Amino acid sequence: MIDLYSDTLTKPTPAMRAVIAVAEVGDEQKNEDPTVNRLLEMAADLLGKEAALFLPSGTMCNQIAVKTHTRPGDVIIADKMGHVIRSEGGGPAFNSGVMVEMLDGDRGRFTAEQLAAVITSGSVYVPPSRLVCLEQTHNFAGGTIWPLAQMDAVCRVAHEHGLSTHMDGARLLNAVVATGVPARDYAAGCDSAWIDFTKGLGAPLGAALAGSRDFIAQARRYKHMMGGAMRQAGMMAAGCIYALEHHIERLADDHANARLLAGGLAQMDGISVENPIPDTNIVFFSPRSPRLTPSDLVARAQSRGVRMGDFGTRIRAVTHLDVSHGDIEQALAVIDQIVREAGAE
Ligand SMILES: *Cc1c(COP(=O)(O)O)cnc(C)c1O
Repeated sequence: MIDLYSDTLTKPTPAMRAVIAVAEVGDEQKNEDPTVNRLLEMAADLLGKEAALFLPSGTMCNQIAVKTHTRPGDVIIADKMGHVIRSEGGGPAFNSGVMVEMLDGDRGRFTAEQLAAVITSGSVYVPPSRLVCLEQTHNFAGGTIWPLAQMDAVCRVAHEHGLSTHMDGARLLNAVVATGVPARDYAAGCDSAWIDFTKGLGAPLGAALAGSRDFIAQARRYKHMMGGAMRQAGMMAAGCIYALEHHIERLADDHANARLLAGGLAQMDGISVENPIPDTNIVFFSPRSPRLTPSDLVARAQSRGVRMGDFGTRIRAVTHLDVSHGDIEQALAVIDQIVREAGAE
């Protein structure tokens, strides 16, 4: 199976498994796991923050960050297609009791003016805006990159109004590799930021949330309350360290493969590509003919060995560590054949 469903599908490589097997470990819950501690130093340094926290998933990073930045009844502001709103099971309402103000971003990226227009300081009637959430890169908009200046302008407006800023950096390192802008520069305007080790970086488990020492101390308490404190987590942190040391630069291969895929799809008469020149590793497209629905195309491709994501009206294909240049050529051939067959039916 050529699996383009998500970059979360990467399996640990033999070399990664080897470092996991021999990792030094201790009690993570007591901050005594040396491998976790080393990973957190690396993550805090990478993101230019005072401290970091090891969490089992990116979702928990978002949820704990929202919890730490807000109080029940506050408003968080995010792009309408943000993962924190669309894909975390209603977590902001359940865990933090917050309201959500959605902005209509341009492929996931809203402007400082759009933000300024919705900020409220709060009154007996009006709930106060408290937190702005940004997603770099933006998943459901197609792996789009926030330009640094736009992100800084948004964060400046947020801070001028007393709001906090949070970056969902599940794929921040894809943006870093694509633009050459250091991760700490993207994170500089954000009070908290996190990266996922299980996306293109290819580790089996783990994410790191970073911020000020005070922020992380409070976040750690919520982590414990939610049952997220672990024991010999150094086994997993070792895979994350390996990923940081060996799997960042190679994200450029995923971006090249995504461009190859999007370019090939764009040449097919029966396909419309949302992002024919993808910023990073995510491609969204759909069949043009009403006789071939996106879910038909996805099902037919899967039966021929190519798995992709069925997003209703759109199809998502994501490149990653376990997808080669040859796999993309093969996937294009399969999709082309399905579209041609549907045209002849
Ligand atoms: C995958 C993803 C998450 C959640 O990360 P998990 O580790 O799967 O919980 C959050 N935000 C974005 C943008 C993502 O793509």
